[in-house]
Amino acid sequence: MVIVMRPDATPADIARVVERVEESGAEAFVSRGVLRTIIGLVGDVATLHGLNLRALAGVADVHRITAPYKLVSREHHAERSTVWVGSGDSRAAVGPDTFSLIAGPCAVETPEQTLQAAMMAKAAGAALLRGGAYKPRTSPYAFQGLGLEGLKILADVRAETGLPVVTEIVDAQDIDVVTEYADMLQVGTRNMANFALLQAVGQSDKPVLLKRGMQATIEEWLMAAEYVAQRGNLDIVLCERGIRTFENATRNTLDISAVPVVQAVSHLPVIVDPSHAAGRRDLVVPLSRAAIAVGADGVIVDVHPDPETALCDGPQALFGDDLQALADAVRRLPPLLGRWPTG
Ligand code: PEP
Ligand code: MN
Repeated sequence: MVIVMRPDATPADIARVVERVEESGAEAFVSRGVLRTIIGLVGDVATLHGLNLRALAGVADVHRITAPYKLVSREHHAERSTVWVGSGDSRAAVGPDTFSLIAGPCAVETPEQTLQAAMMAKAAGAALLRGGAYKPRTSPYAFQGLGLEGLKILADVRAETGLPVVTEIVDAQDIDVVTEYADMLQVGTRNMANFALLQAVGQSDKPVLLKRGMQATIEEWLMAAEYVAQRGNLDIVLCERGIRTFENATRNTLDISAVPVVQAVSHLPVIVDPSHAAGRRDLVVPLSRAAIAVGADGVIVDVHPDPETALCDGPQALFGDDLQALADAVRRLPPLLGRWPTG
């Protein structure tokens, strides 16, 4: 349920509503908008009805959220959210006013390769560095990532470049170690419905990049985000990374329509991963342009100093020249749509 406060509701009115809700054993999530405050309630509907919240001072309306996802819906939080990643000088925003370029190697391989990829990303105006230390590979014989050593390399490269780092977590048991080194926790397509993992990142204080499951509907994806939010972490960025279809010219089919569809029903930022969607370098820049045009809040792309020797996803990694074309698009196109590139 959602409580919409009157525009003239006082902080004491809001505190009283929260107190009343929490006394009943339910949870209250307060979101303060420019014009009004909305309080999202999670708990037993019958109990909440019994509280007669409509009678409290400052309450304008009480209504049920019709979507199956609550906290991530725009019914709970009408304005689109901005998620901040990193701290101090290494801080970046992902949200409706900006366009965020996130770039880096698919996998952390060596300190030199990671630093070089990060320098390429930085030169292109990237706001964040991506790089996998734990790699969820389709084949058990493929490179599985450097694990802890990879996290340490990412932290060193952050110190050197100032770029905050997003990296994947594949197992809830790794939560402490990944949280220690990363600025943002990525949950990949293969783990979108790993509910223990979603709850673990939901309990952390780091923002989460939640990729769409390659077989997931938009509603299932938003329900996965709800798992994270329900544990208290609303700093979630959604990432459309392509879904499985009958088409095999590309690795997956980028569902570009998912971007405005999700933005209409959820307040969370939505970015696009054209690299993992297409699996082909030549499509990354055109699909990034499409992502900008459709209103995505950013793109995340693979870059590598030497894609031919990459241990993971070399065919989709951008060369320096491609990255310049991407940087050019990110510099010129978002301002036409009222957004400013971060980085
Ligand atoms: C990745 O970003 O490195 C990755 C494995 O992506 P996805 O989960 O979308 O396949
Ligand atoms: Mn990859």
